[in-house]
Amino acid sequence: MENSHDFNTLTENENGYIGYCPCCRKYNLAYKNSLFILNEFEFGAFQEMLENRVGILDFWTSHGKEFMMRTPLKNYYILWKESEIDEVLEMMEEIALLVEAHRVVNINKN
Ligand SMILES: [Zn+2]
Repeated sequence: MENSHDFNTLTENENGYIGYCPCCRKYNLAYKNSLFILNEFEFGAFQEMLENRVGILDFWTSHGKEFMMRTPLKNYYILWKESEIDEVLEMMEEIALLVEAHRVVNINKN
């Protein structure tokens, strides 16, 4: 693990945080034991995916209704409760304006 990044915490709660690393131009969205590393465009796409439940399958278990998300690993899935998806979306919405600003700045840079 590298520790030399100038990492800014943008929002946090007891279950996770979202931070931004200006040198990598990546958001680290940590929630429970998952970490998603996203650029400003992937951040928006992931937010939309969660909002519209795109690519997220209903998954009924004896523990109740959950949602299942595929990962690039064939035999590894992420399970979400509806309340967890909502909590992650709340964190993402809190910093949505900042992400939008980064998107505009970086479009102009490229
Ligand atoms: Zn970095």
